[in-house]
Amino acid sequence: MPRSNRPRRSNGPADDDAQGIERMMTGWRTVERRRGHDWNVQPITANQATKDYVCPGCSLPITAGTAHLVAWRADGLMGDAADLAARRHWHNHCWRIGVS
Ligand SMILES: [Zn+2]
Repeated sequence: MPRSNRPRRSNGPADDDAQGIERMMTGWRTVERRRGHDWNVQPITANQATKDYVCPGCSLPITAGTAHLVAWRADGLMGDAADLAARRHWHNHCWRIGVS
């Protein structure tokens, strides 16, 4: 399927990827309690990291090929789809040290 010229559906992180969402909705993940909220945490392996992201913990890039994690709210405040759309990619260590 061509990937170019696909309209953006939201103002969220520019990583809308139907296959990625499918993987995250069905794949292995854990729920962690952080900063007073429950978060779904999905590890991303180096092989799965095919794009660059900006880590919200340190504001530095997570370059493609870097194993990291993606986290989104698990308390259903906005509904699963909206929470998932607002997911953020984190360096593993930034998530662990809990910078917000
Ligand atoms: Zn970071």
